Amino acid sequence: MSDTRIIDLHMHSTASDGSLSPEEVARAAKKAGLAAISLTDHDTIAGYPRVTDAARALGVEVIPGVEISVNFQGQSMHMLGYGFDLAHVRFRALLEELSAARRERNEKIIARLRELGVPIVWADVVRAAGGDTGNIGRPHFANAMLAKGAVKTFQAAFDRYLGDGKPAYFPKEKTGPEFAIDLIHQAGGLAVFAHPVYHGFDLSSATRAFAPLKAAGLDGVEVYYSDHTKAQREIYLSIAHRFDLLVTGGSDFHGENNKGVEMGSGRNGNLRVPYDLLAKMKGHLAARSTVRSPG
Ligand code: AMP
Ligand code: ZN
Ligand code: FE
Ligand code: FE
Repeated sequence: MSDTRIIDLHMHSTASDGSLSPEEVARAAKKAGLAAISLTDHDTIAGYPRVTDAARALGVEVIPGVEISVNFQGQSMHMLGYGFDLAHVRFRALLEELSAARRERNEKIIARLRELGVPIVWADVVRAAGGDTGNIGRPHFANAMLAKGAVKTFQAAFDRYLGDGKPAYFPKEKTGPEFAIDLIHQAGGLAVFAHPVYHGFDLSSATRAFAPLKAAGLDGVEVYYSDHTKAQREIYLSIAHRFDLLVTGGSDFHGENNKGVEMGSGRNGNLRVPYDLLAKMKGHLAARSTVRSPG
C-alpha cells in the first residue's frame, strides 16, 4: 500500500518570528494531520525541546531543523539544516554568533527608523514579538510599525523601509553558504537551499548558482514551497535531479506573521509534501552518521 502520510519541514515559532509557541506549533501540526514536522526557526534552535515534547505526546514525529541566513553572491540566502545533533557544541556556538549579529542589526534598524521619522521604539518591537526578545526579526518591526499606524499594511513596511535594499535595511549575514554547510555537516545534519524562488532563478541561472553549492556539499533543495508555482517546482525538481540533491518541502508557516500560508497545505492548498521525502533524508543521515566528527 502506498504511503499517504504528509509532512511539513519548514515552519516558525515564537522562538523566532512565528506567532505560535512551540507547543502551539505541535498542536497545529496534529490538527493539520501531519505525520512529521521540522521547526525551522531563524538562526536558533531554542524552540527545541519544547516542540519535540509536545509533538511526541501527540504522535507527531519531529526532525531537528533550523533556517540560517547567509550571504550568497551579495544576496541574503536561507540555508535549512536538518537532522543535526541539537547538542553539538560548535554548531550551537555558530547559532549564538548569528543571533548576536541579528541583535546588532536590529539596533541599526531601530536607529535608522527613528532618523526616518518612523515613530516606533524598541519596546514596541518587543511587544510585537510577544515579549520574547530571543530572536527578533524584521516581521516584528513590520508589525510594530503597523500597530503604531506608521504603515497601512505589513507588506508596506517591507516595501518602504525593511525589505532588502530599502532605507532601513541592514544585512546581518556574516558567513557564506560553504561555512554553514560545513558546520551543519559537522553537526551530523543535511544542508538544504531554502525557497530558491526568492532568488529569481530560471533554469540556466539556477544551474550556474547550484554548481558551486553542490561542490561545497549542499545536500538538498526545497522544491515544494508555498510560493513556488508549478513551473518553479519543475525547475527545482530538475535541478535536484541534475545535481543529485535531496528534495525537501515545507510551508514556511509563521502563523499570524505570514497570513495566507497554512501549515502543511501552503497557500490555498497548493502544498502537499509526502513523507517519502523525509524517509530519503533519514536514509542519507543514517549513512552519514558513520563518518561524523565529534562536536
Ligand atoms: P530577518 O531574518 O529578521 O532578516 O527577517 C527575514 C524575514 O522577513 C523573512 O523570513 C520573511 O518572513 C520576511 N521578509 C523579508 N523580506 C520581505 C519582503 N520583501 N516582504 C515581506 N516579508 C519579507
Ligand atoms: Zn521568518
Ligand atoms: Fe526563509
Ligand atoms: Fe522560513
